[in-house]
Amino acid sequence: MTNKTALIIGVTGQDGSYLTELLLEKGYHVHGLKRRSSSFNTARVDHLYVDPRTPGARFQMHFGDLTDAMNLCRVIQEVRPDEIYNLGAQSHVQVSFETPEYTANTDALGTLRILEAMRILKLGADCRYYQASTSELFGGLGETAQREDTPFHPRSPYAAAKLYAYWMTINYREAYGFHASNGILFNHESPRRGETFVTRKITRAVAAIEWGMQDKLYLGNLETKRDWGHAKDYVEGMWRILQQDAPDDYVLATGEVHTVREFVECAFDVVGRTIVWEGHGVDEVGYDRKSGERLIEIDPRYFRPAEVDFLLGDPGKAWARLGWSPTISFSNLVSEMVMSDVNVMMREKGRNDLHG
Ligand code: NDP
Ligand code: GDP
Repeated sequence: MTNKTALIIGVTGQDGSYLTELLLEKGYHVHGLKRRSSSFNTARVDHLYVDPRTPGARFQMHFGDLTDAMNLCRVIQEVRPDEIYNLGAQSHVQVSFETPEYTANTDALGTLRILEAMRILKLGADCRYYQASTSELFGGLGETAQREDTPFHPRSPYAAAKLYAYWMTINYREAYGFHASNGILFNHESPRRGETFVTRKITRAVAAIEWGMQDKLYLGNLETKRDWGHAKDYVEGMWRILQQDAPDDYVLATGEVHTVREFVECAFDVVGRTIVWEGHGVDEVGYDRKSGERLIEIDPRYFRPAEVDFLLGDPGKAWARLGWSPTISFSNLVSEMVMSDVNVMMREKGRNDLHG
Protein backbone atom coordinates (compact mmCIF):
# COMPACT_ATOMS: atom_id res chain seq x y z
CA MET A 1 0.00 0.00 0.00
CA THR A 2 1.24 3.45 -0.88
CA ASN A 3 1.07 6.59 1.21
CA LYS A 4 0.91 8.98 -1.74
CA THR A 5 -1.48 11.87 -2.23
CA ALA A 6 -3.26 12.49 -5.52
CA LEU A 7 -5.31 15.44 -6.71
CA ILE A 8 -7.95 14.62 -9.33
CA ILE A 9 -9.35 17.55 -11.27
CA GLY A 10 -12.66 16.41 -12.74
CA VAL A 11 -13.28 13.95 -9.90
CA THR A 12 -17.06 13.99 -10.42
CA GLY A 13 -16.79 12.78 -14.03
CA GLN A 14 -16.85 9.25 -15.42
CA ASP A 15 -13.08 8.75 -15.31
CA GLY A 16 -12.61 10.72 -12.08
CA SER A 17 -14.91 8.33 -10.25
CA TYR A 18 -13.18 5.15 -11.48
CA LEU A 19 -9.74 6.64 -10.87
CA THR A 20 -10.72 7.61 -7.31
CA GLU A 21 -11.80 4.01 -6.64
CA LEU A 22 -8.53 2.67 -8.07
CA LEU A 23 -6.29 5.04 -6.11
CA LEU A 24 -8.15 4.47 -2.83
CA GLU A 25 -7.70 0.72 -3.34
CA LYS A 26 -3.98 1.35 -3.72
CA GLY A 27 -3.85 3.28 -0.43
CA TYR A 28 -3.65 6.83 -1.82
CA HIS A 29 -5.09 9.88 -0.12
CA VAL A 30 -7.33 11.29 -2.83
CA HIS A 31 -8.34 14.93 -3.14
CA GLY A 32 -10.82 15.90 -5.81
CA LEU A 33 -11.76 19.23 -7.32
CA LYS A 34 -15.52 19.66 -7.79
CA ARG A 35 -17.44 22.55 -9.30
CA ARG A 36 -20.09 24.45 -7.42
CA SER A 37 -23.42 23.55 -8.96
CA SER A 38 -27.01 24.49 -8.12
CA SER A 39 -27.89 20.79 -8.06
CA PHE A 40 -25.89 17.81 -6.78
CA ASN A 41 -23.09 16.81 -9.16
CA THR A 42 -21.32 14.17 -7.07
CA ALA A 43 -23.51 11.12 -7.79
CA ARG A 44 -20.60 9.18 -9.33
CA VAL A 45 -18.45 9.49 -6.18
CA ASP A 46 -21.06 9.65 -3.42
CA HIS A 47 -20.45 5.98 -2.57
CA LEU A 48 -16.82 6.85 -1.78
CA TYR A 49 -17.55 9.79 0.50
CA VAL A 50 -16.69 9.55 4.18
CA ASP A 51 -16.88 12.37 6.67
CA PRO A 52 -13.37 13.88 6.64
CA ARG A 53 -13.43 13.84 10.47
CA THR A 54 -13.61 10.03 10.42
CA PRO A 55 -10.21 8.60 11.45
CA GLY A 56 -8.50 7.13 8.39
CA ALA A 57 -10.68 9.04 5.89
CA ARG A 58 -8.71 9.23 2.65
CA PHE A 59 -11.08 10.97 0.23
CA GLN A 60 -11.86 14.65 0.30
CA MET A 61 -13.28 17.16 -2.16
CA HIS A 62 -12.55 20.86 -2.64
CA PHE A 63 -14.58 23.41 -4.53
CA GLY A 64 -12.80 24.75 -7.57
CA ASP A 65 -12.90 25.48 -11.25
CA LEU A 66 -10.46 25.26 -14.13
CA THR A 67 -11.31 28.84 -15.07
CA ASP A 68 -10.11 30.12 -11.67
CA ALA A 69 -6.31 30.28 -11.48
CA MET A 70 -6.08 31.48 -7.88
CA ASN A 71 -8.35 28.74 -6.68
CA LEU A 72 -6.28 26.09 -8.48
CA CYS A 73 -3.09 27.53 -7.01
CA ARG A 74 -4.51 27.52 -3.47
CA VAL A 75 -5.91 23.99 -3.66
CA ILE A 76 -2.63 22.61 -5.06
CA GLN A 77 -0.69 24.47 -2.35
CA GLU A 78 -2.94 23.05 0.39
CA VAL A 79 -2.95 19.48 -0.92
CA ARG A 80 0.73 19.28 -2.00
CA PRO A 81 -0.03 16.24 -4.18
CA ASP A 82 2.49 13.67 -5.39
CA GLU A 83 0.36 13.22 -8.51
CA ILE A 84 -2.11 15.47 -10.32
CA TYR A 85 -4.57 13.97 -12.81
CA ASN A 86 -6.18 16.64 -14.96
CA LEU A 87 -9.39 14.98 -16.14
CA GLY A 88 -11.47 18.15 -15.94
CA ALA A 89 -12.94 19.39 -19.22
CA GLN A 90 -15.94 20.45 -21.18
CA SER A 91 -15.67 17.04 -22.76
CA HIS A 92 -18.45 16.97 -25.37
CA VAL A 93 -17.44 17.51 -29.02
CA GLN A 94 -20.88 18.64 -30.22
CA VAL A 95 -21.28 21.05 -27.28
CA SER A 96 -17.88 22.56 -28.09
CA PHE A 97 -19.26 23.85 -31.40
CA GLU A 98 -21.90 25.75 -29.37
CA THR A 99 -19.50 26.91 -26.65
CA PRO A 100 -16.08 27.25 -28.30
CA GLU A 101 -14.76 30.02 -26.06
CA TYR A 102 -15.80 28.32 -22.82
CA THR A 103 -14.33 25.04 -24.08
CA ALA A 104 -11.02 26.76 -24.83
CA ASN A 105 -11.02 28.47 -21.46
CA THR A 106 -11.61 25.25 -19.55
CA ASP A 107 -9.78 22.65 -21.64
CA ALA A 108 -6.86 24.70 -22.99
CA LEU A 109 -6.26 27.55 -20.52
CA GLY A 110 -7.41 25.40 -17.60
CA THR A 111 -4.49 23.07 -18.30
CA LEU A 112 -2.10 26.00 -18.49
CA ARG A 113 -3.41 27.29 -15.14
CA ILE A 114 -2.60 23.98 -13.42
CA LEU A 115 0.86 23.77 -14.96
CA GLU A 116 1.61 27.39 -14.02
CA ALA A 117 0.40 26.78 -10.46
CA MET A 118 2.81 23.84 -10.25
CA ARG A 119 5.63 26.09 -11.52
CA ILE A 120 4.80 28.97 -9.16
CA LEU A 121 4.63 26.56 -6.22
CA LYS A 122 7.94 25.01 -7.34
CA LEU A 123 6.47 21.48 -7.24
CA GLY A 124 8.71 20.54 -10.17
CA ALA A 125 9.92 16.96 -10.02
CA ASP A 126 8.10 16.29 -6.71
CA CYS A 127 4.74 16.22 -8.42
CA ARG A 128 3.80 14.14 -11.46
CA TYR A 129 1.20 15.44 -13.91
CA TYR A 130 -1.23 13.50 -16.11
CA GLN A 131 -3.04 15.26 -18.96
CA ALA A 132 -6.27 13.76 -20.34
CA SER A 133 -5.51 14.04 -24.05
CA THR A 134 -7.78 12.55 -26.65
CA SER A 135 -7.97 10.63 -29.91
CA GLU A 136 -10.01 13.60 -31.22
CA LEU A 137 -6.59 15.23 -31.79
CA PHE A 138 -6.11 12.94 -34.81
CA GLY A 139 -9.26 14.05 -36.61
CA GLY A 140 -9.86 10.60 -38.07
CA LEU A 141 -9.37 11.51 -41.74
CA GLY A 142 -7.61 8.32 -42.89
CA GLU A 143 -8.54 4.70 -42.30
CA THR A 144 -5.37 3.45 -40.62
CA ALA A 145 -4.74 2.92 -36.91
CA GLN A 146 -3.52 6.01 -35.07
CA ARG A 147 -0.38 5.98 -32.94
CA GLU A 148 1.61 8.44 -30.87
CA ASP A 149 3.42 9.68 -34.02
CA THR A 150 0.32 10.05 -36.25
CA PRO A 151 -0.09 13.70 -37.31
CA PHE A 152 -2.85 15.67 -35.60
CA HIS A 153 -5.76 17.35 -37.37
CA PRO A 154 -8.24 18.64 -34.76
CA ARG A 155 -11.75 18.98 -36.22
CA SER A 156 -13.69 20.66 -33.40
CA PRO A 157 -13.20 23.46 -30.87
CA TYR A 158 -12.86 20.66 -28.27
CA ALA A 159 -10.04 18.99 -30.19
CA ALA A 160 -8.27 22.30 -30.88
CA ALA A 161 -8.41 23.21 -27.17
CA LYS A 162 -7.09 19.76 -26.23
CA LEU A 163 -4.27 20.19 -28.77
CA TYR A 164 -3.09 23.30 -26.91
CA ALA A 165 -3.25 21.37 -23.62
CA TYR A 166 -1.32 18.47 -25.16
CA TRP A 167 1.51 20.72 -26.30
CA MET A 168 1.65 22.76 -23.08
CA THR A 169 2.08 19.52 -21.16
CA ILE A 170 5.04 18.65 -23.38
CA ASN A 171 6.33 22.23 -23.19
CA TYR A 172 6.43 22.22 -19.37
CA ARG A 173 8.19 18.85 -19.51
CA GLU A 174 10.84 20.14 -21.91
CA ALA A 175 11.20 23.69 -20.54
CA TYR A 176 11.04 23.03 -16.79
CA GLY A 177 11.76 19.31 -16.42
CA PHE A 178 8.25 18.46 -15.21
CA HIS A 179 7.23 14.82 -14.95
CA ALA A 180 4.25 15.60 -17.22
CA SER A 181 2.65 13.03 -19.51
CA ASN A 182 -0.20 12.82 -21.99
CA GLY A 183 -2.55 9.88 -22.20
CA ILE A 184 -4.05 10.00 -25.69
CA LEU A 185 -7.18 8.06 -24.89
CA PHE A 186 -9.63 6.68 -27.40
CA ASN A 187 -13.33 6.66 -26.51
CA HIS A 188 -14.04 4.86 -23.28
CA GLU A 189 -17.45 4.22 -21.86
CA SER A 190 -19.22 2.66 -18.89
CA PRO A 191 -22.54 2.79 -17.06
CA ARG A 192 -21.24 6.10 -15.67
CA ARG A 193 -20.72 7.68 -19.11
CA GLY A 194 -22.40 11.06 -19.60
CA GLU A 195 -25.93 10.62 -20.92
CA THR A 196 -25.47 12.65 -24.11
CA PHE A 197 -22.55 10.62 -25.49
CA VAL A 198 -23.80 8.28 -28.18
CA THR A 199 -23.16 4.99 -26.33
CA ARG A 200 -25.00 5.96 -23.17
CA LYS A 201 -27.74 7.69 -25.15
CA ILE A 202 -28.30 4.38 -26.94
CA THR A 203 -28.18 2.14 -23.86
CA ARG A 204 -30.54 4.43 -21.94
CA ALA A 205 -32.95 4.44 -24.88
CA VAL A 206 -32.87 0.64 -25.17
CA ALA A 207 -33.74 0.40 -21.47
CA ALA A 208 -36.42 3.10 -21.63
CA ILE A 209 -38.04 1.43 -24.66
CA GLU A 210 -38.05 -1.90 -22.78
CA TRP A 211 -39.90 -0.31 -19.84
CA GLY A 212 -42.34 1.55 -22.11
CA MET A 213 -40.96 4.95 -21.10
CA GLN A 214 -39.77 5.98 -24.60
CA ASP A 215 -40.95 5.07 -28.12
CA LYS A 216 -38.03 5.95 -30.30
CA LEU A 217 -34.34 6.75 -30.42
CA TYR A 218 -33.19 9.66 -32.61
CA LEU A 219 -29.57 9.56 -33.76
CA GLY A 220 -27.22 11.36 -36.16
CA ASN A 221 -24.43 9.76 -38.18
CA LEU A 222 -24.58 5.95 -37.93
CA GLU A 223 -21.49 5.31 -40.05
CA THR A 224 -18.76 6.87 -37.89
CA LYS A 225 -16.32 4.40 -36.46
CA ARG A 226 -14.96 4.44 -32.94
CA ASP A 227 -12.52 2.41 -30.86
CA TRP A 228 -14.64 1.94 -27.72
CA GLY A 229 -13.11 0.59 -24.51
CA HIS A 230 -14.18 0.46 -20.86
CA ALA A 231 -13.29 3.40 -18.59
CA LYS A 232 -12.22 1.04 -15.79
CA ASP A 233 -9.40 -0.31 -17.95
CA TYR A 234 -8.35 3.17 -19.02
CA VAL A 235 -7.91 4.64 -15.52
CA GLU A 236 -5.51 1.77 -14.78
CA GLY A 237 -3.54 2.96 -17.84
CA MET A 238 -3.50 6.56 -16.55
CA TRP A 239 -2.05 5.41 -13.25
CA ARG A 240 0.59 3.27 -14.98
CA ILE A 241 1.65 6.26 -17.10
CA LEU A 242 2.48 8.22 -13.94
CA GLN A 243 4.39 5.31 -12.36
CA GLN A 244 7.05 5.39 -15.13
CA ASP A 245 10.47 6.83 -14.22
CA ALA A 246 10.38 9.10 -17.26
CA PRO A 247 7.39 11.11 -18.48
CA ASP A 248 6.07 10.29 -21.96
CA ASP A 249 2.94 10.24 -24.12
CA TYR A 250 0.88 7.10 -24.72
CA VAL A 251 -2.10 6.00 -26.81
CA LEU A 252 -4.61 3.92 -24.83
CA ALA A 253 -7.04 2.08 -27.11
CA THR A 254 -8.47 -1.38 -27.77
CA GLY A 255 -7.25 -1.70 -31.38
CA GLU A 256 -10.80 -2.65 -32.46
CA VAL A 257 -13.25 -0.49 -34.36
CA HIS A 258 -17.08 -0.47 -34.56
CA THR A 259 -19.62 1.79 -36.22
CA VAL A 260 -22.36 3.59 -34.31
CA ARG A 261 -24.78 1.33 -36.22
CA GLU A 262 -23.05 -1.77 -34.79
CA PHE A 263 -23.28 -0.33 -31.30
CA VAL A 264 -27.04 0.19 -31.74
CA GLU A 265 -27.56 -3.34 -33.06
CA CYS A 266 -25.49 -4.87 -30.27
CA ALA A 267 -27.33 -2.86 -27.58
CA PHE A 268 -30.80 -3.91 -28.80
CA ASP A 269 -29.56 -7.48 -29.11
CA VAL A 270 -28.88 -7.51 -25.34
CA VAL A 271 -32.65 -7.24 -24.72
CA GLY A 272 -33.46 -9.75 -27.47
CA ARG A 273 -34.42 -7.34 -30.24
CA THR A 274 -33.01 -7.60 -33.77
CA ILE A 275 -32.88 -4.35 -35.73
CA VAL A 276 -33.57 -4.25 -39.46
CA TRP A 277 -32.84 -1.09 -41.44
CA GLU A 278 -34.81 0.49 -44.28
CA GLY A 279 -34.22 3.63 -46.32
CA HIS A 280 -31.10 5.76 -46.71
CA GLY A 281 -29.49 8.86 -45.23
CA VAL A 282 -31.79 11.00 -43.10
CA ASP A 283 -34.74 8.80 -44.14
CA GLU A 284 -33.23 5.62 -42.73
CA VAL A 285 -35.33 3.86 -40.08
CA GLY A 286 -34.51 0.97 -37.73
CA TYR A 287 -37.34 -1.52 -37.04
CA ASP A 288 -37.70 -4.32 -34.53
CA ARG A 289 -37.72 -7.39 -36.78
CA LYS A 290 -40.31 -9.26 -34.71
CA SER A 291 -42.79 -6.57 -33.67
CA GLY A 292 -42.23 -4.22 -36.62
CA GLU A 293 -41.97 -1.25 -34.20
CA ARG A 294 -40.19 1.78 -35.63
CA LEU A 295 -37.43 2.21 -33.03
CA ILE A 296 -34.68 4.33 -34.59
CA GLU A 297 -34.91 7.44 -36.72
CA ILE A 298 -32.34 9.94 -37.94
CA ASP A 299 -32.40 13.53 -36.71
CA PRO A 300 -30.08 15.81 -38.73
CA ARG A 301 -29.62 18.00 -35.63
CA TYR A 302 -27.19 15.38 -34.36
CA PHE A 303 -24.90 15.68 -37.39
CA ARG A 304 -21.75 17.66 -36.61
CA PRO A 305 -20.41 20.67 -38.52
CA ALA A 306 -17.19 18.68 -39.03
CA GLU A 307 -17.21 14.94 -38.33
CA VAL A 308 -14.41 12.66 -37.16
CA ASP A 309 -15.14 9.59 -39.25
CA PHE A 310 -12.63 7.02 -38.13
CA LEU A 311 -10.89 6.54 -34.79
CA LEU A 312 -8.90 3.36 -34.25
CA GLY A 313 -5.95 3.32 -31.88
CA ASP A 314 -2.78 1.28 -31.91
CA PRO A 315 -1.97 0.67 -28.23
CA GLY A 316 1.36 -1.07 -29.01
CA LYS A 317 3.53 1.38 -27.08
CA ALA A 318 1.35 1.19 -23.95
CA TRP A 319 1.49 -2.60 -24.10
CA ALA A 320 5.27 -2.69 -24.57
CA ARG A 321 6.21 -0.02 -22.02
CA LEU A 322 3.39 -0.05 -19.46
CA GLY A 323 2.29 -3.66 -19.76
CA TRP A 324 -1.21 -2.26 -20.28
CA SER A 325 -3.94 -3.80 -22.36
CA PRO A 326 -7.73 -3.63 -22.10
CA THR A 327 -9.52 -6.50 -20.36
CA ILE A 328 -13.18 -5.78 -21.15
CA SER A 329 -14.49 -6.70 -24.62
CA PHE A 330 -16.82 -4.60 -26.77
CA SER A 331 -19.77 -6.96 -26.28
CA ASN A 332 -19.26 -7.12 -22.50
CA LEU A 333 -19.06 -3.32 -22.38
CA VAL A 334 -22.33 -2.96 -24.29
CA SER A 335 -24.17 -5.55 -22.20
CA GLU A 336 -22.92 -4.05 -18.91
CA MET A 337 -24.17 -0.62 -20.00
CA VAL A 338 -27.55 -1.89 -21.21
CA MET A 339 -28.19 -4.02 -18.11
CA SER A 340 -27.21 -1.16 -15.82
CA ASP A 341 -29.63 1.19 -17.60
CA VAL A 342 -32.38 -1.45 -17.53
CA ASN A 343 -32.01 -1.43 -13.72
CA VAL A 344 -31.83 2.38 -13.53
CA MET A 345 -34.99 2.71 -15.63
CA MET A 346 -36.80 0.06 -13.60
CA ARG A 347 -36.23 2.14 -10.46
CA GLU A 348 -37.26 5.33 -12.30
CA LYS A 349 -40.44 3.68 -13.57
CA GLY A 350 -41.19 2.40 -10.08
CA ARG A 351 -40.89 5.94 -8.70
CA ASN A 352 -43.10 7.35 -11.49
CA ASP A 353 -45.75 4.67 -10.92
CA LEU A 354 -45.69 5.30 -7.17
CA HIS A 355 -46.21 9.04 -7.57
CA GLY A 356 -48.84 8.65 -10.28
P1 NDP B 1 -16.73 13.83 -18.01
O1 NDP B 1 -17.39 14.85 -18.86
O2 NDP B 1 -17.52 12.69 -17.47
O3 NDP B 1 -16.06 14.56 -16.75
C1 NDP B 1 -15.46 15.82 -16.87
C2 NDP B 1 -15.14 16.35 -15.49
O4 NDP B 1 -14.62 17.69 -15.63
C3 NDP B 1 -16.36 16.46 -14.56
O5 NDP B 1 -15.95 16.18 -13.25
C4 NDP B 1 -16.74 17.92 -14.70
O6 NDP B 1 -17.45 18.43 -13.60
C5 NDP B 1 -15.35 18.54 -14.75
N1 NDP B 1 -15.35 19.89 -15.29
C6 NDP B 1 -15.97 20.36 -16.38
N2 NDP B 1 -15.74 21.69 -16.52
C7 NDP B 1 -14.97 22.05 -15.47
C8 NDP B 1 -14.43 23.27 -15.03
N3 NDP B 1 -14.63 24.41 -15.70
N4 NDP B 1 -13.68 23.28 -13.90
C9 NDP B 1 -13.48 22.14 -13.20
N5 NDP B 1 -13.98 20.96 -13.56
C10 NDP B 1 -14.71 20.90 -14.69
O7 NDP B 1 -15.48 13.29 -18.84
P2 NDP B 1 -14.75 11.86 -18.75
O8 NDP B 1 -14.62 11.46 -17.34
O9 NDP B 1 -15.38 10.95 -19.74
O10 NDP B 1 -13.33 12.22 -19.35
C11 NDP B 1 -12.26 12.65 -18.51
C12 NDP B 1 -11.26 13.46 -19.32
O11 NDP B 1 -10.75 12.66 -20.38
C13 NDP B 1 -11.86 14.71 -19.99
O12 NDP B 1 -10.86 15.71 -19.98
C14 NDP B 1 -12.14 14.26 -21.41
O13 NDP B 1 -12.11 15.35 -22.29
C15 NDP B 1 -10.98 13.30 -21.63
N6 NDP B 1 -11.22 12.24 -22.58
C16 NDP B 1 -12.31 11.43 -22.42
C17 NDP B 1 -12.54 10.39 -23.29
C18 NDP B 1 -13.70 9.48 -23.13
O14 NDP B 1 -13.98 8.72 -24.07
N7 NDP B 1 -14.39 9.47 -21.99
C19 NDP B 1 -11.61 10.13 -24.43
C20 NDP B 1 -10.44 10.98 -24.42
C21 NDP B 1 -10.28 12.00 -23.54
P3 NDP B 1 -19.07 18.27 -13.50
O15 NDP B 1 -19.30 16.86 -13.03
O16 NDP B 1 -19.44 19.30 -12.51
O17 NDP B 1 -19.60 18.51 -14.89
P1 GDP C 1 -17.02 11.64 -29.52
O1 GDP C 1 -16.36 10.57 -30.32
O2 GDP C 1 -16.19 12.16 -28.41
O3 GDP C 1 -17.61 12.72 -30.35
O4 GDP C 1 -18.21 10.86 -28.74
P2 GDP C 1 -19.79 10.81 -28.97
O5 GDP C 1 -20.26 9.62 -28.21
O6 GDP C 1 -20.41 12.12 -28.63
O7 GDP C 1 -19.97 10.57 -30.54
C1 GDP C 1 -19.44 9.43 -31.18
C2 GDP C 1 -19.92 9.40 -32.62
O8 GDP C 1 -21.32 9.13 -32.64
C3 GDP C 1 -19.74 10.72 -33.37
O9 GDP C 1 -19.21 10.43 -34.64
C4 GDP C 1 -21.14 11.27 -33.51
O10 GDP C 1 -21.35 12.06 -34.68
C5 GDP C 1 -21.94 9.97 -33.60
N1 GDP C 1 -23.36 10.14 -33.25
C6 GDP C 1 -24.42 9.74 -34.00
N2 GDP C 1 -25.57 10.06 -33.41
C7 GDP C 1 -25.24 10.70 -32.25
C8 GDP C 1 -26.03 11.26 -31.20
O11 GDP C 1 -27.24 11.27 -31.22
N3 GDP C 1 -25.34 11.80 -30.15
C9 GDP C 1 -23.97 11.80 -30.09
N4 GDP C 1 -23.36 12.32 -29.00
N5 GDP C 1 -23.21 11.30 -31.09
C10 GDP C 1 -23.84 10.74 -32.15
